Amino acid sequence: MKYFIINRGDGVSLALHERFTRLADQLGLTLDEEAPDTVLSIGGDGTMLQAFHKYKDQLDRLAFVGLHTGRLGFFADWKPEELETMARVMARPLEENANRMVEYPLLSIELRTKTSQEIHLALNEFTIKGIEETMVAQLDVNDVIFETFRGDGICISSPSGSTAYNKSLGGAVIHPSIPCLQITEIASINNRVFRTVGSSLVLPKHHHCDIYPQADKRMMLSLDHLGLQRSDLISIRVSVAKETIRFARYRPYPFWSRVQRAFIGQEPTTDF
Ligand code: NAP
Ligand code: MN
Repeated sequence: MKYFIINRGDGVSLALHERFTRLADQLGLTLDEEAPDTVLSIGGDGTMLQAFHKYKDQLDRLAFVGLHTGRLGFFADWKPEELETMARVMARPLEENANRMVEYPLLSIELRTKTSQEIHLALNEFTIKGIEETMVAQLDVNDVIFETFRGDGICISSPSGSTAYNKSLGGAVIHPSIPCLQITEIASINNRVFRTVGSSLVLPKHHHCDIYPQADKRMMLSLDHLGLQRSDLISIRVSVAKETIRFARYRPYPFWSRVQRAFIGQEPTTDF
């Protein structure tokens, strides 16, 4: 069993990193940055995003696991005091852990310029915003014109990302067992002249959407925590990726319990 660790860099995460390394030595786990079987993220959800982007070319062969330092995360669900249990489960032969994996959908983002096209993956979401002025863009769904968007921008999230930026924008929380993408508006302009649909759209796998920004306008794009500015894009196609991400779920922790814990945080009252 080969592993690698990405940590947030704070004192608590660094100390846990060291403790895990010592445990791993005792358990016969080997450190391998090039081709690990398991990538352990110690920190927050943002740390898992970094781990994902570092290893996005090896998704078919590795699994991710997250230990949270700070608030309980969506990707980081093990507590520091569970470090030893986690290490022992990780040290089991791969076949024994095979049925403890969950696969979650990702987004494929194809950026097209006049001369090139590049494909990126996102775990949470892709966003596009105007920089100097209101973003104006044509939105097509499955190659049919849907609307002309005017406003701050558009967020397209995966089910895992539905609890992140998408949720702040009023999008729906979607269970990650549903392979889909969600298109959510960021401050659209709606009046008698300009019209957008106003609600989030959820597209199933095998559907796609294309965004056509105004030519030569500088746009701010984001892929999870990574930002980039572009002015050469003709169109952007977003769909559910054929790749998926595997998380090692060494013990059950239902998604809806995470949602409850993260956003409600208290036992429901029976006293109405
Ligand atoms: P950050 O500023 O630390 O992230 C903002 C918050 O989102 C943090 O509390 C982060 O948790 C949390 N988060 C990340 N992924 C999540 C998920 N899948 N479900 C629920 N919460 C999640 O920056 P970051 O850690 O590099 O994360 C980048 C992400 O921030 C982006 O992918 C985007 O989703 C989110 N974001 C949100 C807003 C907004 O809500 N207005 C604006 C920009 C970006 P941790 O503290 O555990 O890292
Ligand atoms: Mn963060």
